[in-house]
Amino acid sequence: MRCRLSALFFKNNIMIIPFSPPYIDQETIDEVTDTLRSNWITSGPKVKALEEEITKLTASRTVVCVNSWTSGAILMLKWFGVKQGDEVIVPAYTYCATALCVMECGATPVMVDVGEDMTMDSLQLRQAISCRTKAIIPVDFAGWPCDYDAILNIIKDPEIVRDFIPETLNQEKLGRILLLSDAAHSIGAMYNGEPAAKKADVTVLSFHAVKNITTAEGGGICLNLPAPFNNDEVYAYLKIYSLNGQNKDSLAKSKSGNWKYDVLFHGKKVNMPDICAAVGLSQIRKYNSNLLPRRKAIALKYLDGFNPYAWFVAPPLDNGYRESSYHLFPLRIKGISEWERDEIITGLNDLGISVNVHFIPMPMLTLFSNLGYRIDDYPNSYDHFKCEISLPIYPQLTDVQTEYIIKSVAEQVERCLANRMSHVQKDSVSLSSF
Ligand SMILES: *Cc1c(COP(=O)(O)O)cnc(C)c1O
Repeated sequence: MRCRLSALFFKNNIMIIPFSPPYIDQETIDEVTDTLRSNWITSGPKVKALEEEITKLTASRTVVCVNSWTSGAILMLKWFGVKQGDEVIVPAYTYCATALCVMECGATPVMVDVGEDMTMDSLQLRQAISCRTKAIIPVDFAGWPCDYDAILNIIKDPEIVRDFIPETLNQEKLGRILLLSDAAHSIGAMYNGEPAAKKADVTVLSFHAVKNITTAEGGGICLNLPAPFNNDEVYAYLKIYSLNGQNKDSLAKSKSGNWKYDVLFHGKKVNMPDICAAVGLSQIRKYNSNLLPRRKAIALKYLDGFNPYAWFVAPPLDNGYRESSYHLFPLRIKGISEWERDEIITGLNDLGISVNVHFIPMPMLTLFSNLGYRIDDYPNSYDHFKCEISLPIYPQLTDVQTEYIIKSVAEQVERCLANRMSHVQKDSVSLSSF
């Protein structure tokens, strides 16, 4: 049976629009079937092929695939020697994994607020650096690259470099704070004419089911470490690290006469299976030619559709220097409260449209508030959160669906704002009657 893509789906005469279904077409099914029939389903030739495709797409020195963004970030922080007593700077406005990878190493995530473009604020970043800072993990929010020029200027500033205290061989070799980019959203984003993934020392991608390219679950570590690092050596080390510290993978061991192996150190078991890589391979080959341009076209349609409205705050997409990967369309509605936002979301859900909110700032999550983080310290993060609604954006979304979303959002927002006006009028009437 051929796989049907992007069929319009109705229920009780309402168009049902999911938030972010994976892009699965006949090629995906063929690629996965090929893996199943090959008798080799775990890490092997498909992972290798995917690593090569990602290396090309991101113009990186080399890429290691693992089973999630989270695993990849933990691996790299541990590789750098981040440990208890160290600090790693992260934005408050991100998914919890950005901080959890730091805590997994026993270190402390130091949260800073974001700016108007929803990425890490570089002034606050500079103020947050201490002699314990070992790494910075900025986030390319919604696919929009953060200000890498500003961040690199800060970490390479002689004054900041002087205060850096190396405690491991790799820290000694780098001689400064590590820039590890959270590019879970931003594969394909551009920065000054080059893939944004090249800007940081290490850029970690996510291939979770909702991301621009998926392997169901998965992550990619793009290595662009400066001299004197040898990125190929780091690659070889990470391959062993991601396989329990074992010096031969199952495929190598399966070759005749090659059963003997050694375990060199205490690693982690976070390798990516070929069956997952197959899904990603089918997508990455048509990413720049097809999937990414389609996302961009939808984003531009949203921009056009919402631009006439005074309440519309446009997300950053392209300023001629940086260009988004159009992972999310984070609509912001000027001046609304959390409760008004929720009302609009309920209205959209009733019309069959699934949306999301990116992100609940980390200090508002129980884990982090129990640790003492306070949302009052991150006013911009809260302001974005309270008026943000992420709209569906994916290659299968049709023009008809996009137009239906624009019309429905506009109706819901206008109704919400009109309700508020009538409350205000009623309040002032009842006040003036006293
Ligand atoms: C999805 C996401 C992650 C985590 O990715 P996993 O592959 O699920 O570990 C990290 N950071 C951000 C910003 C994300 O959106």
